Amino acid sequence: MKKIIYLLLLMPFFGLSQATEPSNADAVFIKKLSDEILTNGKAYDLLYELTKKVGGRIAGSPAMYKAEAWGVNAFQQLGAPAVSKQACQVPRWVRGSGDFANITSIDGKKQMRTLDVLALGNSLGDGKKVEGTLLAVQDFADLEKHKNEVKGKIVYFNNSFDATIVKTFEAYGKAGQYRRNGASQAAKYGAVGCIIRSLTSSTANDPHTGGMAYNDSFPKIPAQAVGPRDADYLWSLAKQSSNVKVSMATHGKFLPDTTGHNIIAEIKGSQFPDEIITIGGHLDSWDVNEGAHDDGAGVVHTMEVMRAFLAVGYTPKRTIRFVLFANEENGLRGGSAYAAAAKDKKEKHIFALESDEGGFTPRGFSFTAVPEKVAAAQRWLPLLKPYGTSSMDDIGGGADIGPLNRTFNTPLCGFLPDSQRYFDVHHARSDVFENVNKRELLLGAVNIAGLIYLVDKYGF
Ligand SMILES: [Zn+2]
Repeated sequence: MKKIIYLLLLMPFFGLSQATEPSNADAVFIKKLSDEILTNGKAYDLLYELTKKVGGRIAGSPAMYKAEAWGVNAFQQLGAPAVSKQACQVPRWVRGSGDFANITSIDGKKQMRTLDVLALGNSLGDGKKVEGTLLAVQDFADLEKHKNEVKGKIVYFNNSFDATIVKTFEAYGKAGQYRRNGASQAAKYGAVGCIIRSLTSSTANDPHTGGMAYNDSFPKIPAQAVGPRDADYLWSLAKQSSNVKVSMATHGKFLPDTTGHNIIAEIKGSQFPDEIITIGGHLDSWDVNEGAHDDGAGVVHTMEVMRAFLAVGYTPKRTIRFVLFANEENGLRGGSAYAAAAKDKKEKHIFALESDEGGFTPRGFSFTAVPEKVAAAQRWLPLLKPYGTSSMDDIGGGADIGPLNRTFNTPLCGFLPDSQRYFDVHHARSDVFENVNKRELLLGAVNIAGLIYLVDKYGF
């Protein structure tokens, strides 16, 4: 009771609200959700199971099936009223083993230095050693300037994060084009191999993999990311000498597509069962780590929100779907299948939220919605502020829920934890359970649960 009075004193504004406006009752209920999650939360234990017992789970791999079975079982154990699997065809890229990159000579003098590299996801390689002189460029404009010197060389892109951009996802977005398209841009001018600077601002030397795609018009050359410290070394070496020889090899290949699944738990709405709210994260990860922040955190956020609703006896007005999407990292087939099935069934999707930016301290949410809806959501800010939400802005969402927006114009929302450390681990070996903090992870679930509760109660 004391707590309730305290909340009433804190939020006199809500005392004047109308029926559709957030109220003191909302503040009290969100506090109840928060207390439940912070005291009885299972997200951290679930993350332990997913990262340590399943581990890396790239689409099409045996671990993908293990993760799917784990997801179904975990939802059931948490008391989900309904759990289903939704099939989709997924690509099956296999890294193989024995990838390397070495500096072999500088100015004609034999030298051997092994670089810490990872092949980029979806890249191909027959394991044959490729050798060439290093051509280091800052960006595509720089490549263009040197296009007549590219033939037969190994191109290195020094695509560093723009340190002046505070929101690291924006820096990632800018630098990301070199991972996605760098190899084909270099191959266009005759390069025999491509190495990019890892997409990170980390000071550790772990390389960061991630999805790339070849342009079919050009040779499909080996493509790797190099660790940041080795990247610094390559860049400084290239400034001292134009005669640095590099050898490299990759072993990536595609096996035939296979069947993967979205794992979906559902609580039926009591008043508007046809109006669907989706909350999700992606179940797949890259193969080189445990996929703890990316996106084990989003998976267990999703599960924790469901668990908390059930634990406090919340009966949603609208239908809430808790979705673990398949194959976000190198295909987006799960998110696409989810929207396609929704279209077939003529479902009404009023809101979709994704958690795919890690399990760090919550900071806010970003929306893809008409300005009036974003403004309406901003009225809820004071209710979530005590738990860490300090901003509700556009533009945001998530890769897996993007197809819902493109199909139905469904408003999207992305959960935004603090982003300063996310790219230290993103797609690197260091994305492991030990780098997730329990308290930060649970607080993320608190904020998401609070927002989903408000969207359910008031609509969107
Ligand atoms: Zn992700």
